[in-house]
Amino acid sequence: MKPKETPWNIRHIDGMTVDEVGDMHIGTSAETPLREDAFDLDDDLKIELIQKHFREIMLILGLDLNDDSLSGTPERVAKMYVNEIFSGLNPKNKPDIKLFENKYNYNQMLVEKNITIYSNCEHHFVPIIGKVHVAYISSGKVIGLSKINRVVQYFARRPQVQERLTMQIGNELKAMLETEDIAIIVDAEHLCVSSRGIQDTSSSTVTSFYGGVFNNEDRKREFLTYVYNK
Ligand SMILES: [Zn+2]
Repeated sequence: MKPKETPWNIRHIDGMTVDEVGDMHIGTSAETPLREDAFDLDDDLKIELIQKHFREIMLILGLDLNDDSLSGTPERVAKMYVNEIFSGLNPKNKPDIKLFENKYNYNQMLVEKNITIYSNCEHHFVPIIGKVHVAYISSGKVIGLSKINRVVQYFARRPQVQERLTMQIGNELKAMLETEDIAIIVDAEHLCVSSRGIQDTSSSTVTSFYGGVFNNEDRKREFLTYVYNK
């Protein structure tokens, strides 16, 4: 079905309307598309400006901002965007990770599974909720377990497409742990698919990243067994 050509719906990207790009979840790059001046404004100023603009959105929707329940919403949303759900945009919030020597010479895969993520779809700004499973084989360095969660959360706290999120976590851990032997699975529900659009509440999206020995079928199967066998 051809979308209606309304004044706010005539932008085309590669021959598709903005709605089509969003519903097909087409991402354009492995890096989060950021402006060059992304961090020229400090967080306090960002909160102030977002608050102002979110207020405008609410007013345009017809909401009465004099109501006690709504009056604080623009400020809450602005703080939540900058300090919480989009805090992973700013490199200053990147977790500081210390590595340790692999003194016990553990040379098998380490799997950290079921890391819960709340991210947001960059096409609709509604949540992506899911689980991330990570495996690596030490090249001589090991990482504190909770630090894997922190790396995952850092990249989740951005407007995202799931493919990019998966690759960003994989590439970061590869660089950090100085090894190619990294495996990542992201299994997530997109609220833009379940709560709107096609309104499918039972589907989830699975993406993976396999580096080094994890391209070997036996290693891959071993990882998947740890992740999916109850
Ligand atoms: Zn979406």
